[in-house]
Amino acid sequence: MENLEKERYLRQMKVAELGEEGQEKLKQSTFLLIGAGGLGSPAAQLLAASGAGRLIIADFDTVETNNLSRQFLHTDARIGMNKAESAAVALKDVNPFTRVTPFTGKVTDETLAPLVAEADVVVDCCDNSKTRHVVNRVCHRLGKPLVTAGAIRGCGQISVFDFRESGTPCYACAFPEDEENDLKASSLGVLTALTGIMGALEAAEAVKIAAGIGSPLKGKVMLVDILNNDYRIFALRSNPACRVCRGEG
Ligand SMILES: [Zn+2]
Repeated sequence: MENLEKERYLRQMKVAELGEEGQEKLKQSTFLLIGAGGLGSPAAQLLAASGAGRLIIADFDTVETNNLSRQFLHTDARIGMNKAESAAVALKDVNPFTRVTPFTGKVTDETLAPLVAEADVVVDCCDNSKTRHVVNRVCHRLGKPLVTAGAIRGCGQISVFDFRESGTPCYACAFPEDEENDLKASSLGVLTALTGIMGALEAAEAVKIAAGIGSPLKGKVMLVDILNNDYRIFALRSNPACRVCRGEG
């Protein structure tokens, strides 16, 4: 790290668990973010500000007026621009030392695999279960750590699946694809502060994994209910019938 960078991260490097060594690991790390929306905006901003070396941001959608109240990477002036490209513009101002690579294509098993292969940590910030299952499948197949979260109304959930380790459950073990009731934030609404909290939690988990510090939420789910201030953590179990874990899905 250059002296200017060290000065930038001074306060964070004072955290004993992280230190200069952990900060250097963040600089050497590539984080893949799926989605530059409600979760992706806070997650990407915090990862860039934390000193991530490289962010790959995948989003096919374009910025719309109704995004702006919570997707604060984007601005009125960039309505109509692809969200991944808009995010790259915004993140340059957050931290010029972070390299940002936008991916503007659709996320499928085929398009995602080369991006996941480049990443040290994958952070799923998408808004639908179909994409969440694609991301889970590809991360499982390529053995990459995955942070995944969702937020609807006042309730959020977040999990970490570290597929570098054998025997870990996967997202599909807990939420099988064909049984899932796809509740979308677009139809049920979501509180802006909640997406901020959940995206920030995702960034924190990704930093912990990349730096190798603390206790990430591996194989667990944390449920967050900000309307009632109820925060709970449950352990997830591997499902022997899970098609992803059996290598069939
Ligand atoms: Zn599974």
